[in-house]
Amino acid sequence: MPIRLFDTLSRTEKELRPAAPGTPFGMYCCGPTVYGPAHIGNFRTFLIQDTLRRALELDGLAVKHVRNLTDVDDKTIRSSMKEGVSLKAFTDKWTAKFHADCDALNMQRPAVEPSAVEHIPHQIRMIEKLVARGHAYVAADGSVYFKVCTCHDYGKLAHIDRSKLQTQNENSAGAANAADEYDRESVADFALWKAWKPEDGPNKWDSPWGPGRPGWHIECSAMSIEYLGETFDLHGGGVDLCFPHHENEIAQSECATGKKDFSRHWFHSEHLMVDGAKMSKSLGNLYTLDDLKAKGASPMAVRYALISGHYRTQLNFTLKSLEDAASALEKIERAAERLLAKAGLEKADFLPPAVHEKNTAWGSYLPAWEALQNDLNVPAALGKVFSALPNANRPELSPADARADLSGLAKILFALGIRLFTTEKKAEEIPSDVAGLGARRWAAKQAKDFAGADALRLELEKLGWKSLDRKDGYSLVRL
Ligand SMILES: [Zn+2]
Repeated sequence: MPIRLFDTLSRTEKELRPAAPGTPFGMYCCGPTVYGPAHIGNFRTFLIQDTLRRALELDGLAVKHVRNLTDVDDKTIRSSMKEGVSLKAFTDKWTAKFHADCDALNMQRPAVEPSAVEHIPHQIRMIEKLVARGHAYVAADGSVYFKVCTCHDYGKLAHIDRSKLQTQNENSAGAANAADEYDRESVADFALWKAWKPEDGPNKWDSPWGPGRPGWHIECSAMSIEYLGETFDLHGGGVDLCFPHHENEIAQSECATGKKDFSRHWFHSEHLMVDGAKMSKSLGNLYTLDDLKAKGASPMAVRYALISGHYRTQLNFTLKSLEDAASALEKIERAAERLLAKAGLEKADFLPPAVHEKNTAWGSYLPAWEALQNDLNVPAALGKVFSALPNANRPELSPADARADLSGLAKILFALGIRLFTTEKKAEEIPSDVAGLGARRWAAKQAKDFAGADALRLELEKLGWKSLDRKDGYSLVRL
């Protein structure tokens, strides 16, 4: 049974299969703007996309996952100039940080991760096509705008009534934007190419319309088509990207290629709330992965907490949800250990690579997989995992059944991107008197006062501790 997933465009659940059998499933996801560390709201979306990709792979599909890097826009340009470094040096630094966080969260790297700066000719070619076909016009300052009124089904993704679009924009932020971009013929029109302004500093590229840089929307259209073709299988992003970003991507792509179905499926994940509120710097609830690690959370617990809500509902993240995630992971580890013991296997047998390719058995974990296949319902899948875990305690469980359960558990955890046995057990807290005795004993031994060191050893033993000495130091452990 193929995975079924809700599609924002048709508002129905659809089966996920590549357009042509035997070809990879083409999946494009809007990536990060690399101007600072990503926050957990960004990661919720990226983790859900990673979970979908893993589920598709477990379902037997080859997935071609493309995720872009937005490395030229107002934020990257302004921040790099403020730091006095080149745009490239600045965005390289934050790209490396993003990769490190993704690796810690056990996210699979995309097959292609195109940078907007490295694809400026692709974007220019697409804009030229749009101008030639009458879907775009050049303003007096050399900026190029998409002419929304030439796209007859504009609004189909976000289900926006086009007659109301103008009024909406004029009544809200549109009016303010119009003051900046006075060359636009209509407030609904959006920039494909932005003419160079002095505040852009050295960041400009040549184009048929003069120096400037591409608008944001065009990069995703140009790069998705470059790597996945003019129509592809699935496009993903956070719900905040649905309008206008994805609506604009559809308009400019379909008008440039003349083909409908730019993406056959649209996959949007809902917002992350923190402590019941929208994340914002002023509320102090905008967490990065490093912030949570500093509070003692393991990246695996962060992953668990961020994927544990259904992707189509808002998830309220709290520090308590991290503790719950850590204890859930421990329960799964304990059950896995019991299954391993019953099956006569080692922890190493449970770990990747490609545990799902070795064994087709699901044991008690088939209901968890079925829940995941049904609109990527992670909370239901986790519920089924927890219903299946007690099976590990059954005295009559045979080694063969234990192996089947291990195979099923390993596969569902692969799909969820959860690795077991990764967190080091926290070192036991050492009482201060014990720590003091340990330090004095080590100092005495270093000073070759062996009688003194021996006396301190006995004192430590009375308190139930002993010192394990190495060449370069010692550790204190319970007797
Ligand atoms: Zn995008």
